[in-house]
Amino acid sequence: MRPLRLGMVGGGQGAYIGNIHRLAARLDGQWQLVAGAFDVDPERGRAFALSQGLDPARSYGTWQEMIAAEAARPDRMEAVAICTPNFTHYPIAKALIEAGFDVICEKPLTATLADAVALEQLARDSGRFVGVTYTYSGYPMVHEARVRVAAGEIGAVRTVQVEYPLEWMATAIEQQGNAQAVWRTDPVKNGRGGSIGDIGTHAYHLAGFVSGLTLDSLTADLATFVSGRALDDNAHVMLRYQGGARGLLWSSQVAIGHSNGVRLRVFGGTGSLQWYQEQPNELILTPLEGRVQVVKRGAPDLSEDAQARTRTPPGHPEGYLEAFANLYAGFAEAIRARAEGREPDAIGRNLPTAWDGLKGVAFVEAVVDSAEAADQPWLRPVAV
Ligand code: NAD
Repeated sequence: MRPLRLGMVGGGQGAYIGNIHRLAARLDGQWQLVAGAFDVDPERGRAFALSQGLDPARSYGTWQEMIAAEAARPDRMEAVAICTPNFTHYPIAKALIEAGFDVICEKPLTATLADAVALEQLARDSGRFVGVTYTYSGYPMVHEARVRVAAGEIGAVRTVQVEYPLEWMATAIEQQGNAQAVWRTDPVKNGRGGSIGDIGTHAYHLAGFVSGLTLDSLTADLATFVSGRALDDNAHVMLRYQGGARGLLWSSQVAIGHSNGVRLRVFGGTGSLQWYQEQPNELILTPLEGRVQVVKRGAPDLSEDAQARTRTPPGHPEGYLEAFANLYAGFAEAIRARAEGREPDAIGRNLPTAWDGLKGVAFVEAVVDSAEAADQPWLRPVAV
C-alpha cells in the first residue's frame, strides 16, 4: 500500500510536539512526509525542512506558500499536520480544508469557541477528514477500557475521576523566555484556559471516551499560583454527566513531582477500572468484592479495538510513541476507507475528530465561565 503524502505546519527546530508527530507518522509506513512549513520564521523553516531531507521545492517558508504550491501539484500532499500554537490552528485548518486537504490538528482544536464551531461546521460540510491528536485515545488499553465499560463489565458508571498533573510551569518560566510557556500563558495565543485548555482537554476527552458519558454541566475552581501569570495553572472541575453520573477532573501545570501522570479511574455499580499513563500496558479491573485483576496489553482475549493497536507481544512494553502512531495509522485508515467507500477497519474507528475537538473547546469555555462567575452558588464559607 502506498504511503499517504503528509505535510506539516509548525514543529520546527526546538518545538515540542512536531518531532513526535514525525516519529508517529513513520512507525507503520502509512505516511511519508513530503512538504512542510515548519517555523514561524520562514528561513528557519526552510532550513529545517532541508535538514529533514525534504525536496527543496517543497521546503516552504510559510503555510500560505505551501498550500498554494501543493494545491497545484499532481503529487500534492494529501493531509497536513498542524503542530503550531493554538491560535493559528483555525486559519491554517480553514485554508487547508478550503484547498481540499485533509487535516490532522493538535489540541485544543482552536483558541476560541467561535473558531471551533466554524471549523467543525466546515469539516462537516466539506467532507474533509479532520483528526485531532488527543494522544491518550491512541493507547490500546484505553480502548480496552472503553470496550469493557460499554460491555457493562463494571455496571452503570457512577463516577469518573481523571487527572493530568504536570510540574513544568511550577515557576515563572514564561518570564525567562521558555518558548512553549510564553505562548501558553498568553490568552490571545493560547485561549482562555491555561492548564485546563492545555491538558484539561486531554483529561476531559479521555474521561468521556472511556466512560461513554456525555457531559451535561460543570462547576469549576481555577487558580493561578505563579505570580504574574495571566491564565490558570491549576484547575479543579466537578462534572455532572447526562444520566446522573458524576466526575472530578484535575489539571495542573504546577504539580511538583509529576510529568504527564495522566490517570483515569471509572467506578460503576459492580466494579471499577483504572488506567495510568506511566503503566500504560496495564488496566486495573476490580469487580465488587472481588480480586483485583491486572489486564495486560497483548493478551489474546483482549478486544479487537485493543489488538488492532498492539504491535509487540506481551511483556515487551509499548508506550507514548506507539499510542501516537496508532492515531496516525487510524487517520490513514479513515482517509483510505473514505476514498474507497467502505467502513474503516478497527484502527480507523473511534478516532478523535473535529467534533471531539469542538467539545474540548466548549468544555474550556464552560470551565472558565464557571470560574469567572461572580455568584458561584456552590461556594460557601465554612463555619469553623
Ligand atoms: P512549540 O512552541 O514548541 O512549537 C510551535 C512550532 O510552531 C514552532 O516550531 C514554531 O516556529 C511553529 N510556528 C508557529 N507559528 C507558525 C506559523 N504561522 N507557521 C509555521 N510554523 C509556525 O509548541 P508545542 O508545545 O509543540 O505545541 C504546538 C501545539 O501542539 C499546541 O497546540 C499544543 O497544545 C499541542 N500539543 C499537543 C500535545 C499532545 O499531547 N497531543 C503535546 C504538546 C503540545
